Amino acid sequence: MSGGGGATPLMQQYREIKARHQDAILLFRMGDFYEMFYEDAEIASRVLGLTLTARNNGGAAEVPLAGVPVKAIADYLRRLVRHGHRVAICEQVEDPRFAKGIVKREVVETVTPGAAFADDLLDGHRNNFLCALAVPSPRAADRRAALAAADLTTGEFRLVVAEPGSELDAAVARFAPRELLVMRGADGPAVPLDGVLVTEREGWEFDPSMAREELARHFGVLSLEGFGIGVGDDTAVGAAGALVRYLRELQPTGVPQLAPPQLERAGGTMPLDEMTRRNLELVDPLRPDAAAADGVPAGTLLAVLDRTLTPMGARLLRHWLLAPLVQRSPIEARLEAVTALGVAAESRQALREALDGVRDVERLATKAAAARASPRELRALGDSLGRLGAVETALRAAVGPSASDGSESRLTMLATGWDDAADIAAPIVGALVDRPPLQIGDEETIRPGVDAALDELRALRAGGKDAIARIQQEERDRTGITSLKVGFNRVFGYYIEISNANRHAVPDEYQRRQTLTGAERYVTPALKEYEERVLTASERIETRERELFETLRRQAGAEIRRLQRLAAAVAELDVLGSFAEVAEREGYVRPLLSDDFTLEIRGGRHPVVERMMPRDAFIPNDVHLTEDARLVILTGPNMAGKSTILRQVGLIVLMAQVGCFVPAARATVGIVDRLFTRVGASDNLVRGQSTFMVEMSETSAILHTATSRSLVLLDEIGRGTSTYDGVSIAWAVSEHLHEEIGCKTIFATHYHELVQLADELPAVRNFTVDVRESGDRIVFLHRLRPGGADRSYGIEVGRLAGLPDAVLARAREVLHLLESEQLARDLAVGVDPSAAPGTRRRAITAPRQAPTPQLGLFADAHPVLDELRALEPDAMTPIEALTTLARLVGRAKS
Ligand code: ADP
Repeated sequence: MSGGGGATPLMQQYREIKARHQDAILLFRMGDFYEMFYEDAEIASRVLGLTLTARNNGGAAEVPLAGVPVKAIADYLRRLVRHGHRVAICEQVEDPRFAKGIVKREVVETVTPGAAFADDLLDGHRNNFLCALAVPSPRAADRRAALAAADLTTGEFRLVVAEPGSELDAAVARFAPRELLVMRGADGPAVPLDGVLVTEREGWEFDPSMAREELARHFGVLSLEGFGIGVGDDTAVGAAGALVRYLRELQPTGVPQLAPPQLERAGGTMPLDEMTRRNLELVDPLRPDAAAADGVPAGTLLAVLDRTLTPMGARLLRHWLLAPLVQRSPIEARLEAVTALGVAAESRQALREALDGVRDVERLATKAAAARASPRELRALGDSLGRLGAVETALRAAVGPSASDGSESRLTMLATGWDDAADIAAPIVGALVDRPPLQIGDEETIRPGVDAALDELRALRAGGKDAIARIQQEERDRTGITSLKVGFNRVFGYYIEISNANRHAVPDEYQRRQTLTGAERYVTPALKEYEERVLTASERIETRERELFETLRRQAGAEIRRLQRLAAAVAELDVLGSFAEVAEREGYVRPLLSDDFTLEIRGGRHPVVERMMPRDAFIPNDVHLTEDARLVILTGPNMAGKSTILRQVGLIVLMAQVGCFVPAARATVGIVDRLFTRVGASDNLVRGQSTFMVEMSETSAILHTATSRSLVLLDEIGRGTSTYDGVSIAWAVSEHLHEEIGCKTIFATHYHELVQLADELPAVRNFTVDVRESGDRIVFLHRLRPGGADRSYGIEVGRLAGLPDAVLARAREVLHLLESEQLARDLAVGVDPSAAPGTRRRAITAPRQAPTPQLGLFADAHPVLDELRALEPDAMTPIEALTTLARLVGRAKS
């Protein structure tokens, strides 16, 4: 900033405030405008398309300036925050009429992408998380990092402890924060943070002991133990403390209502890494341009399963899909509920009808607690709560007399703790009119008959209005001027208007107030008296309505904990109902869960692909993995359906562990601890690493993290490099998974060479997706059968895709040549192509470097080969071997 000494007092004040909010755009209230200066003005003019003007700073320097009217602030704020800016709102905090000198100003709130309340910034289907990431202090014995996640609009506050690396990245990806607080100088997560505002905070703000005290004070408890947060949870406490401290800074007038922090202990849910989440298209499609319906992008598991009726349900479903369970009993409790809701079709319909009118109770309650809910919103809260009785009736009917096998279902648990909040709903619905205005004052907010004082004021105002009509009539009669009328304007209040033609008949006691072109306006003492009564009554009505409304809102807001709990119950019921609904419509079945290794899917389908096809067009397939047959090599031509089967297995396991029914005729799922899905050579260039490098580092992460209880799905690993490299890597990775890890694995590959693994390793099985050949054409049957593909069919797929005939013919020719070249090479390293596969394996892995393909491509075999074939290495001395080799190399180069 330029200038200094010469600045006006106003600019001095501005600078003092701006110095404390350097990283934010400062909206500086000046009367009816918010003004921005300097760089802020420049940014705003760019983002908002405002005209940049200049203001004289009292000195020589001109200050760039841009302003927005106070009335239109919501829209401007939204646009700035959408662009990832932080905006500090500085208000005049004293009445300018009484200010001595410069009006006092203060920043009353800072709005950021993670701390936004405006409805139009939010998506009802997803949470708006602000996260804080804490890494352990160097002294800490526990090396795990922690993530605190708060959604200010719903009050959710969760803490997650995770190993740095894939587990932590998975946690960050799961919350998909809008804003992330990180310690200055510490490592952030490795997940891409596109579109996330990253805010650096000082290391000391994450200090656990300070945070422990502050959090206890914030939640009004003596210690955090009551929330299940103990001495060992320092890092998590530090993250939570930094987050709450940041919120205090953003909203100095009071931090919004957060529920007590919930610590998610490791082991309860399955961490899903970003690649798995993306590749299985759980909540976001791989191609983000896929059409979005209702904010849920099509082509995802979420879109297929989402038949929720409330925003809370939609958010919870998303959360569940990203956090499958790993323990049998909580999964069974959900499945049992879905079963019950499936059987009780009528109650399910009744339940869905009752839920249909329930609005976003969670966000509305939080708004009430933050004194931000409008009359209309409070009424919406009341109406929504009013439906909970009907929800409960349907719920109890669905629970039925007893659960089928004695295991407790979530429905029973929800019914037991059900809170219909009738005591919160009744006063709201009783006091507020059916459709209250957005603001007090415009129209009636409080019903007649609720408050005697209010009714009296209203009668007075109505009486005043009647009286004015009476005065008009009396004055007409008295003066004989039939065109005389009583009117009202803001400056003069009530007046009697008489046209110039009738001026002669104006009585003496009329006092003239205003002269118009064709008329004069007068007042009389009687008129003034009634005017007084009407105007003060209106003002007092507004005050009284505001008092009554604020009391109602405060009472509802005070019940925030109850409201948050019941919103969670509604959300869960909604998701379980949605699962039951989808199961029935799509023909899903309840999976059998087990704690053993086995995964057996009969007649499995891909839930998303099947939905995009005509009914029954999808071909179901069986997959059976046991400890003795745990690694499947899946070969077959492109487009046969390998990726579909691979993902279908992953989705079925995931759905089962989420507690949802699955698209299969029958499924037994041995619970897995982790699910990894890696697809080779996908377009990951956004992350600035070469595709192959990314592929390898992700494969490496799997090899380091998977256990025998994991499910690993690999699609075309090793594709991003030369064939020899690729096959070798794929081979070694499979061996490692089979020998060292022993997990369930499906490896889809177009390297048909890998089918030989089955001869080497006992628990490897070959499967292929069937195609029928007719002439040189192929028909995809999409049917899985034991056995391996013996070739790739790439050219046929090229034909299907419409490559010109000449190109196809040439491709066949080249393929033929390459195949004879391969044969030649096999012979060159002394391998008999007809020998047992075990011996051939060397031929695959031995020549690390592929010979330059041009060498023999369009020529006949090189003459050196004949010489090589004639050699007998066993009969040579080392020196002979070396000299022969040198000679041959010399010839090959010439
Ligand atoms: P690959 O991975 O073998 O190249 P994909 O799994 O991508 O093949 O499948 C190619 C296409 O075949 C899919 O887009 C889908 O339309 C169709 N498909 C795959 N599996 C089936 C199936 N089981 N039934 C019907 N169509 C299928």
